[in-house]
Amino acid sequence: MDLTGKVAMVTGAGQGIGREIALFLAQHGADLVIADWNEESAKFVAREVEQLGRSALWQKTDVSKRSDVERLFDRTLDRFGALDILVNNAGITRDAMLHKMTDEQFDEVIAVHMKGTFLCMQYAARHMRERNQGKIVNISSIGGKVGNIGQVNYSGAKAGLIGMTKAAAKELAKFHVNVNAIQPGFIDTDMTRVIPEKIKEIKIAEIPMQRMGQPLDIARAVVFLCSDYADYMTGNVLEVTGGRFM
Ligand code: NAP
Repeated sequence: MDLTGKVAMVTGAGQGIGREIALFLAQHGADLVIADWNEESAKFVAREVEQLGRSALWQKTDVSKRSDVERLFDRTLDRFGALDILVNNAGITRDAMLHKMTDEQFDEVIAVHMKGTFLCMQYAARHMRERNQGKIVNISSIGGKVGNIGQVNYSGAKAGLIGMTKAAAKELAKFHVNVNAIQPGFIDTDMTRVIPEKIKEIKIAEIPMQRMGQPLDIARAVVFLCSDYADYMTGNVLEVTGGRFM
């Protein structure tokens, strides 16, 4: 799975799954655009990519803001002249039970996951349609399939990403742009480190493979979907969950 000469953009790449995706794409030869609203972590990961011998551009970006995303794509095309791969990974949680969830908690989660993915896909689509090639991978969640208690906002947004993925896949197929989604299960990152140990044990007991996933488990699936090996796959949803909720 050689990605030499490809330019890949990963949102929310400053840490966790996004960082691992960026580094694994770089290990497969891609140059990277690291977008995160945390400037320091974006800069740090860009340096890690460079240490792997690839070029990297970092850009402080709130994916839910059109002006930020426009600037991100302008800078990317100025620097690299093209974009081959987009991974929409940026994400947040604002958990609350339905009867207590505030408008802010709901709106923030929808804005980052859905508006952010819409904006990045839109700019990527304009460019990739003209080039007649491209790969887009949207990071959903198994929560979008089964629904998580305390996450009406997050589960709704992650389910919405599947509809967006399939609609975009249909629109872009004739331009040789593949659009797929991944639904990670329970992955060991800062997002899940806040979960109390007892709850973690219950969740791990539900996983046939009996372990949490690592960011690399997701990065491997992303690299596959971005490679030539997945050229005839579009509109797919890959569950990377160790078998949980199959
Ligand atoms: P993470 O460690 O919290 O990393 C997410 C990154 O995205 C952070 O650097 C975060 O910055 C950044 N970000 C958040 N909102 C952003 C915005 N509007 N614009 C740009 N960057 C933004 O989370 P993760 O576990 O790696 O999750 C990555 C993706 O996988 C998310 O979409 C998540 O929903 C999904 N996922 C995770 C799991 C899991 O078990 N971990 C399971 C299923 C799906 P800040 O930290 O400063 O907010």
